[in-house]
Amino acid sequence: MTMNGLKIDRIEIYPTRIKLIEPFVISVGAITHARNTVVKIILTDGRYGIGECCPYRSIHGETMEGQMAIAQDIAKNLIGLDPRTSKRHLHMMNKVMKNNASIKAAFDMALYDLNAKIAELPLYIFLGGDNKKEIFTDNTVSLLEADKMVDKALQFKDLGFPVLKVKLGEQPSKKDVERITSIRKAVGDTLPLRVDANQGWNFYDAKYALNAMKDLNIEHCEEPIAAANIRDQKRLTEWSTIPIMADEAVFNHHDAYRILAENAADLINIKLGKTGGIENAMKVASICEAAGVYCQVGSFSESRLGISALVHFDLAWDNIIYHDLDSPLMMSEDPIIGGLSYSDKWQVTVDDSPGHGADYDPSFLKMFECVAVK
Ligand SMILES: [Mg+2]
Repeated sequence: MTMNGLKIDRIEIYPTRIKLIEPFVISVGAITHARNTVVKIILTDGRYGIGECCPYRSIHGETMEGQMAIAQDIAKNLIGLDPRTSKRHLHMMNKVMKNNASIKAAFDMALYDLNAKIAELPLYIFLGGDNKKEIFTDNTVSLLEADKMVDKALQFKDLGFPVLKVKLGEQPSKKDVERITSIRKAVGDTLPLRVDANQGWNFYDAKYALNAMKDLNIEHCEEPIAAANIRDQKRLTEWSTIPIMADEAVFNHHDAYRILAENAADLINIKLGKTGGIENAMKVASICEAAGVYCQVGSFSESRLGISALVHFDLAWDNIIYHDLDSPLMMSEDPIIGGLSYSDKWQVTVDDSPGHGADYDPSFLKMFECVAVK
C-alpha cells in the first residue's frame, strides 16, 4: 500500500519565557521563570502539530540554548517526511543526538498532536484511551522555611486542593521533619500529603525522615536519595513503610525496567520531558503495568499546552493514579488557547478537540525569535 502524500514542509522553533508568580524552590535550586522550547511541525497543506518542553538544567543537563541548536538538527532530518511514520522519526532523533530527552519530547509531542489531528481524533482516543478517569491535581509547596511552607499549605488547602505535594530534601533531614510535622499539624489529619526530596538526602537522612513521618498520612516519597545510588534506593524501598517513588532515577523505559528489576522503587513518576515524549512514556507505563506498579504523571515547568498532552496520555493508562499537574498554576500568564481546564475543585479535564487540543496564542509567540527550518 502506498500512503498518499503528507509531507512535513516547515518546522518552527521558539524559545519562550513566562515569569512565575513566585520562585519555585526545590532541593537542587530555584527558578523564577518557565522557559519552554516550543516546536511547531507544519505540513505542506498547512495543518500542524505543536509540542513543548522545559529544559531543567539541574535535572536534564539541557539548556534552552543547547535545545535550540539540537532542535534545528532534528528538524532538518524531518523536512519532506510523512509525519505518520513516527517511530522512524523517534529512531532518527536518537541517532542525531544521544540523551537530550527534553527536546525530543517537544518533537514527539508535536508529532502525536499532528497525527491525532490527521486522524481527526482527540489524542486520548488516538492513544487507545477514553475520557472516564477522574483526574485531580495536587499543588506543590516549595522548599522554604517551615513557617512559610505552613502558610502556603494552608492557602492551598483553603483553595480546595485535594492533595498537596511538599518539597523537602535538606541534609541533614531534621529540619525537613519539622517542616512536614508543622504542615501536617496546620492542615489537619485528613488532607493527603506527598513529599519529594529531589535526591536531597542520603540513606540515613532518608531513614530518619521517613521514620518520623510514617504516621503523618504521607502518600509516597519521591526520589529520597541520589538517583544514581541504586544500592541505597533498593534498601530504602525494602525498609520504608511509606512507598518510594522513583522520579529522577527513571527517565525512560530502560531505567524503569532496571529500577523495578532491582526492587529499587514502589512507584514511578512519568514525565514526558524525561522519557523523550509520549512514545517512550507508554513503554514506561507498560513496564509498570506488567510489574503491577502504579504511576504518577508530573512535569517540569511546562505550560497548559504540555500538560494538556500529558493529561491525554494519563487518560489512556489505568495504572496512572497520581497526578501532579500544577505547573501552569505557577505562571503569571496563560498564553495557551484551548487545552485542559481546571475546575474549582481542581479536577483536570480535556475536551474532544483533535490532537491535544491546545495551542499557543500567536501574539505570545510573536514576542520571541522564530527559528524556521524548511
Ligand atoms: Mg519529583
